[in-house]
Amino acid sequence: MKHFDYICIGGGSGGIASANRAAKHGKKAAIIEAKDIGGTCVNVGCVPKKAMWYGAQVAEAIHRYAPEYGFDITVNHFSWDSLIASRQAYIERIHASYDRALTANDVTLIRGFAKFVDNNTIEVDGETYTADHITIATGGRPVIPDIPGAQHGINSDGFFALKEQPKKAVVVGAGYIGVELAGVLHSLGTETHLVVRKHAPLRNFDPIIHETLVDMIHAEGCTLHNHASVEKVERGEGKHLSIHLTNGEVLEADCLIWAIGREPSTDVIAIENTDVELSENGTVKVDKYQNTTAKNIYAVGDITGEAELTPVAVKAGRLLSERLFNGQEDAHMDYSMIPTVVFSHPPIGTMGLTEPEAIAEYGEDKVKVYSSSFASMYTAVTRHRQMTKMKLVCAGEDEKVVGLHGIGHGMDEILQGFAVAIKMGATKADFDACVAIHPTSAEEYVTMT
Ligand code: FAD
Ligand code: NDP
Repeated sequence: MKHFDYICIGGGSGGIASANRAAKHGKKAAIIEAKDIGGTCVNVGCVPKKAMWYGAQVAEAIHRYAPEYGFDITVNHFSWDSLIASRQAYIERIHASYDRALTANDVTLIRGFAKFVDNNTIEVDGETYTADHITIATGGRPVIPDIPGAQHGINSDGFFALKEQPKKAVVVGAGYIGVELAGVLHSLGTETHLVVRKHAPLRNFDPIIHETLVDMIHAEGCTLHNHASVEKVERGEGKHLSIHLTNGEVLEADCLIWAIGREPSTDVIAIENTDVELSENGTVKVDKYQNTTAKNIYAVGDITGEAELTPVAVKAGRLLSERLFNGQEDAHMDYSMIPTVVFSHPPIGTMGLTEPEAIAEYGEDKVKVYSSSFASMYTAVTRHRQMTKMKLVCAGEDEKVVGLHGIGHGMDEILQGFAVAIKMGATKADFDACVAIHPTSAEEYVTMT
């Protein structure tokens, strides 16, 4: 039996960040990882997705914008293989850098599948480990619906394992992953259909976002099928699939991707051997300090069901280690006002309250909304004009900025700086007091009237 001061189960965003921080404070720390180091984000999430998104950006630049910027380009071939090879080589470099950091910090990496024996003991492939403190950071996995033929579809993990570019793909789901994967496939030349069961994808985002996204999908994106669900899937010859929708349509495709949400990986770690309580949806119940209901067991990241984003898992993991191992007794994650980007085409940036949420919270007379709509200059120079739409949601007498939303070229990089100001409590007057940077899209946020 080996003993550590601290063990993180799961070597993804949260577990790595927390174990490294504990080790920096002199603790003997270990990570147990069943698959590849880096977890969802590095291997089947943010990183491969963003690499594909960049590939799609290159395709759009070549086909849509290059001619009017004066380039006479002939594309002989797009190689899915080459894009995937570049992406995977990049991921290998990230693995190597994680390994170097873990070694430098003297964090032990235990490879294998962890199961709890009791509150302080974990078993991995017949070997037992004990620790004074244990963090559960086992993340989640994609959900597959319970309908006939569902097994003929793949999920986001399967998308990243595709060896060939699909010719015709059907993506089902209305969240981040559905929108992002459908956008990438469409821009890279796959005939793509996005199936959503309600009126729009991202329908809980501010109306300016999902309404504009729908307009843009209709104008230049994939084929959107709204108010439709999949009833059954039939497999024909080879990869051929017939996907039957509830609205009577039958889509024929060689690839079906489920993107209908994720579920927590708590059912596979023998959690019943501990005093850790789960919520009804299987996530681990934690308080604001990431404490579970079991003494000295904590949880961070997707497994807690909080905002399922890498920087959230990383921050929660680091703050936990600051509290446990560096005397910062009140260190805890603030889950309010988290900025987030959807890597759609064009990208979406959003933070804080939507307009309807602000009205519900403050009352209609206390909410003032500023917005801006323009063709981004990058596209306006060409005939392929693409709109950018931005909104500031302000509340109270002092017009505190309680929400910022935008969809358009560059929005993915615009949001972070404004997020700092909003987190500090900026008002509309503070935004106005800042001199604009011209010519940019971002300047609209400080010149709205
Ligand atoms: P994970 O990163 O999921 O790590 C959990 C780890 O635990 C895994 O490596 C798993 O193998 C391991 N594990 C599970 N059970 C055991 C066990 N019993 N024993 C040992 N190991 C175990 N977020 C963003 O911020 N930006 C993005 O652009 C973005 N894009 C995404 C795209 C996709 C397609 C997906 C699926 C997610 C994306 N996310 C993005 C979300 C982000 O990946 C997650 O929020 C983040 O990875 C959560 O980190 P985590 O540490 O909680 O869990
Ligand atoms: P989400 O939960 O975000 O979205 C899935 C959506 O699919 C639901 O909101 C729902 O929308 C729809 N849906 C649910 N069940 C069904 C069903 N049975 N049939 C048809 N549609 C269904 O999940 P994702 O898998 O897209 O992403 C998981 C999380 O990962 C995200 O919430 C995000 O936190 C993170 N992520 C972050 C990214 C980023 O930062 N860029 C990128 C990718 C993921 P509706 O109710 O409208 O039908």
